[in-house]
Amino acid sequence: MLYKSGVIYAGYALNHAEGCAHGCNFPCYAMMMKKRCGIMKDYDDWLKPRIVSNALELLDKEIPKLKSKIGFVFMCFATDPFMYKVPEITELSLKIIEKLNRAGIKVVTISKGITPNELSDKNTYAADNEHGATIVSLSEEFREKYEPYAAPVKERIAALKALHDKGLKAWISMEPYPTPNVIEQDLGEILDAVSFVDKIIFGKWNYSKLISSYNGRKEFYEEAALQVLDFCKAKGIQVYMKEGTMPEGNGTGVKEPIFYNSNQQELFS
Ligand code: SF4
Repeated sequence: MLYKSGVIYAGYALNHAEGCAHGCNFPCYAMMMKKRCGIMKDYDDWLKPRIVSNALELLDKEIPKLKSKIGFVFMCFATDPFMYKVPEITELSLKIIEKLNRAGIKVVTISKGITPNELSDKNTYAADNEHGATIVSLSEEFREKYEPYAAPVKERIAALKALHDKGLKAWISMEPYPTPNVIEQDLGEILDAVSFVDKIIFGKWNYSKLISSYNGRKEFYEEAALQVLDFCKAKGIQVYMKEGTMPEGNGTGVKEPIFYNSNQQELFS
């Protein structure tokens, strides 16, 4: 279950389901990889998540062996821990988080579902867990097209804010951020809507002909990245700019990847 992730800001991670009912059409990188390996047949197959039924038993075996090496566990890179309208996934996620926390291991989550309010119960879950939502647009039209079965965007933000109001750290992944040929939108409005969070990860949209065919994409992402950096600086929000979003630091004097108000060791620690 537990594996060392290759992602720069995350240490150990786990995926307790194969597939994801959110069915993102960016397309989903995890789905592409599972299809390539022959684990998933097609998009319809991906939409029907298969739970790792012995996830808790596996953790019982793995935690004692790995505990001393783990800073925190990231949930999830290849599925969603709080899949919208799939209660059995959320139930298992909560049990996993409780188990890891009881072993003294912090958990960082990311979701396009509704992050459950139960996580604010400090008798059951660690107070230093951090919860995140992916928000790349406030538009429900965009959500219906690209994240068709994920939670409505405002509900994701409200769930995260409720946890933050109870003292938990909250973060936003703004990735893959769409170019104007996909949707014309005001980045400032999105940033304002999530201005309560403690950290933001911003990154461009890859793996799409739609984006690569957009002529002004380099300039667009540089400008957007600077806007995010300025916003976070003004609000005291930690920011991590994903590689390739802001080539050569774009005048900030910082080579990629850029951590502002932070560094990669302390982004989630
Ligand atoms: S929520 Fe994440 S894992 Fe699920 S389909 Fe979307 S991108 Fe893939």
